[in-house]
Amino acid sequence: MFEYKHIDSECKKIDLPVGKVVCVGRNYLQHIKELDNDVPSTPLLFNKPSTALVPLNSPVVIPKNLGPCHNELEVAVLIKTRLCQTSIKDAEAAIWGVGLGLDLTLREVQNTLKKQGHPWERAKAFDCSCPMSQFIAKEQLDNLSNIDFSLSVNNELRQQGNSQEMLFPILKLLVNISNTFTLLPGDIVMTGTPKGVAALLVDDHITIELNGHFSIRTYVV
Ligand code: ZN
Repeated sequence: MFEYKHIDSECKKIDLPVGKVVCVGRNYLQHIKELDNDVPSTPLLFNKPSTALVPLNSPVVIPKNLGPCHNELEVAVLIKTRLCQTSIKDAEAAIWGVGLGLDLTLREVQNTLKKQGHPWERAKAFDCSCPMSQFIAKEQLDNLSNIDFSLSVNNELRQQGNSQEMLFPILKLLVNISNTFTLLPGDIVMTGTPKGVAALLVDDHITIELNGHFSIRTYVV
């Protein structure tokens, strides 16, 4: 397996441990509509363990024989200081930087779990379910509310999003999450996916862009 470490824009190791990944579901209206879900009144949260993380610049490994594995490209926020029942101001100061992650999702498995009223981990928290990019330091970003990103598969644009479209913006999410899960240095928050989720297939070529910062090309195995 590809060993995961947090890396910066020059692919140098960031001096933070690798922790949990807290994920937000249903944070973009168009994506809620495409899966025919309800708009949440509070953020929908779930976790991926640290064993879900793999570097995005290595091939994307999808599980076999478990039905479709969907792409969900999301803004990922790397935490550098402990956040527990925090304020907006402290939440902003706790951000190391921002990258992009894939919340790989076994959609049929998830639909079955939903029907059974069971937790989603088997569909979303499996090994390698969270390929993660390098992180751009917060100081290098103009504005947390204007992060533009996209995913192309086989040179066709599949997902395009901007953090300004989030129902719950980044700082509000951190405040809300920290009331339930203490965020520790090295934890990552995944902020939800825009519309355009669909199955990834072996040999698909993927391009992931954080507009103005990086473009990563990889493929599915
Ligand atoms: Zn997601």
